[in-house]
Amino acid sequence: MQLKKNHQRAWVEIDLSQLRRNFETIQEDKPDNLELLFVVKDQAYGHGAVAVSRVAKKFAEYLAVATMDEAIELRDNEIDDPILVFGERTEEELELCVAYGLTPCINDLAKAKTFEKIALKAGKKNNVHIEIDTGLSRYGIRWNEALDVVHSLVEFKGLNFEGIMSHFAMSDELDKSFALQQLRRFTEILTSLQKDGITFKYRHICNTGGYLDLPQAHFDIVRLGTLPLGVYPSEVCRRIPGIKPIMSVKAKIAATREIQVGDFVGYGMRYQAPSKRRIAVIPLGYGDGYPRVRNKGFVLIGNKRAPFIGGNAMDAMMVDITEIYGTKIGDEVVLLGKQGEEEITVREIANLSNTVTYDIMNSWRSRLPRVYLNSD
Ligand SMILES: *Cc1c(COP(=O)(O)O)cnc(C)c1O
Repeated sequence: MQLKKNHQRAWVEIDLSQLRRNFETIQEDKPDNLELLFVVKDQAYGHGAVAVSRVAKKFAEYLAVATMDEAIELRDNEIDDPILVFGERTEEELELCVAYGLTPCINDLAKAKTFEKIALKAGKKNNVHIEIDTGLSRYGIRWNEALDVVHSLVEFKGLNFEGIMSHFAMSDELDKSFALQQLRRFTEILTSLQKDGITFKYRHICNTGGYLDLPQAHFDIVRLGTLPLGVYPSEVCRRIPGIKPIMSVKAKIAATREIQVGDFVGYGMRYQAPSKRRIAVIPLGYGDGYPRVRNKGFVLIGNKRAPFIGGNAMDAMMVDITEIYGTKIGDEVVLLGKQGEEEITVREIANLSNTVTYDIMNSWRSRLPRVYLNSD
């Protein structure tokens, strides 16, 4: 028997109409001629890449992912937007790029030669982007070597060098000095190439932090991952009114019980009741992606905050509901998101385990079904 998804024990809810509103808000915020690339890698940070990419079609000119499987999943679901695949590709993967019409990054001559051969064989002039490493030391041509390499790359006339990119190491903190240095390195290369008549349709360096705080770095297109999802990369970057999270995590109370003074709760005996308490068992644990915590954090029940007690297990966690009268089995629990006037943010959960918001967004495991609201 197939239970209706929202009658299951716990689930992730994605509000696609809020995603639409976030994109509309970004469109009002951005300069008119600036284009958007929506980064949907790692299942759009756990939101489900196919569902959010369908919504993005109206708003973003380009999509990006980090692996071939991610790109192919989009194509298999009839998503025909241009897709940039971040990182380096093997020869086999380059064949798939041509077959599926994907844009790889090509940063060395050997790969350009291989890719041109594959593309010509298929009778296609495939798009490629070139990545310049301006200081992250991850992918791309080191900035000081970039001019020579780019000059040689663009000689491969069987390829369409559509874009040139770089990536910031730190764009969302108050100290922008390194980001500005990276920007200078990138700009110098672009200026020099332009003097030699080498231009690109898409020059890009900004992620969300750069988009928000470094307007001078926008160029032709910005690569946004977290912002359309309604989550800011840091506490100090610029805010845009109207941007709100689209993900909630919810569950239903599986059991309630009374415990007496001195009773322990949970593995490792990390909580001992100071008085008679009423507790609820939530059928979701670190096996679903909630961080491992003990006696820390809250959930929302009956529009109030209920604190976790004890350590969480793989499949369950206990909360104190003594003060929330009338709570019963089956009541809805919000682990992430809003209930009434209360809200638990990604950042609040990230702070419990000293991690970043990205880590909490994409930590929710596939064990939790994704439920999409307002998908038309
Ligand atoms: C992940 C990623 C982005 C998106 O970053 P956000 O901070 O989520 O906007 C942009 N560019 C590259 C190269 C990335 O890897």
